[in-house]
Amino acid sequence: MIVVMKPGSTPQQIEHVVNLVREMGLKDHVIQGTERTVVAVIGDDRHKDRSRFETVPGVEKVVPILAPYKMASVEMKKERTEVPIGKAGSLGGKKIGVIAGPCSVEDRTQILEVAHAVKEAGAIGLRGGAFKPRTSPYAFQGLAEEGLKYLAEARDKTGLAIVTEVMSIEQIPACVEYADVLQIGARNMQNFNLLSAVGETRKPVLLKRGMSATLEEFLLAAEYILARGNQQVMLCERGIRTFEDYVRNTLPLAIVPELHRRSHLPVVVDPSHGTGKTHLVDGMCRAAVACGADGLIIEVHNDPEHAMTDGAQSMTPKMFKDMMTAIKRIALAVDREV
Ligand code: PEP
Ligand code: MN
Repeated sequence: MIVVMKPGSTPQQIEHVVNLVREMGLKDHVIQGTERTVVAVIGDDRHKDRSRFETVPGVEKVVPILAPYKMASVEMKKERTEVPIGKAGSLGGKKIGVIAGPCSVEDRTQILEVAHAVKEAGAIGLRGGAFKPRTSPYAFQGLAEEGLKYLAEARDKTGLAIVTEVMSIEQIPACVEYADVLQIGARNMQNFNLLSAVGETRKPVLLKRGMSATLEEFLLAAEYILARGNQQVMLCERGIRTFEDYVRNTLPLAIVPELHRRSHLPVVVDPSHGTGKTHLVDGMCRAAVACGADGLIIEVHNDPEHAMTDGAQSMTPKMFKDMMTAIKRIALAVDREV
């Protein structure tokens, strides 16, 4: 449930509500809006007496939240969440944020070269995996901390925010130290311990949809992070597994407006993993912007043919630049900017 305070309610009245919530064995989360404050009550409140709040001075009403994901829902928060990433910009506002870079950090020269190219074309974030989730244990697993250091150097040189995947709880401290955004990969979307652990940090999280997760499971995964107090969550659609085999994954763009209908969190689209084919990425970037995406994350490599991972879906810097020019025009048509 959420306890909606009257406009002008006093800090003492809010504190009184918070104390009552705790007394009932539930968790509180105070959201200070521009006009009024609401107290989100977290936990299983189905058998709790909601009317106890209704008589408290300063309380306007008590609203049950019907969606199983509560913190993520629009019932809880009407205004859209804007997530700043590093000093580079934000996602979730009028401006569409583009994150680009190689699938994996391969060496220092590669990451610096790509960083400069995507920055020049208008990206605000640099992606690159230092810890790679690979299907085969014999495949390249990433440069680990060495890769994180190259990413941090690229941020120092370009000002881009660093987005990198964290695969396990033990990797969190290093990623927090070097990166600006923690990416949770599709294969870890339901690694609940990992979700809770990134929820304890105060770094923005880019949560990728599991390849066979439903929309509700996706939002409940986000809820794990939000419930631990980390409000800076971005939802990323990266394609799902279907019977279709002309693509690596099927990119269901209808999820963008549907997520916006149900949640206040920014929605990012990954057309690289969403198609698996370079020649399809440009079209899907345009479509994602047209249907309301708040951000894009795109794989760009300076030499896709020799990429250690995901070369077949990586754009060259030139393709990326042309795509950026195209989406600027599309963004204007849907009242956004890039
Ligand atoms: C990636 O971003 O390179 C990646 C492994 O993505 P996903 O988790 O969506 O497969
Ligand atoms: Mn990849």
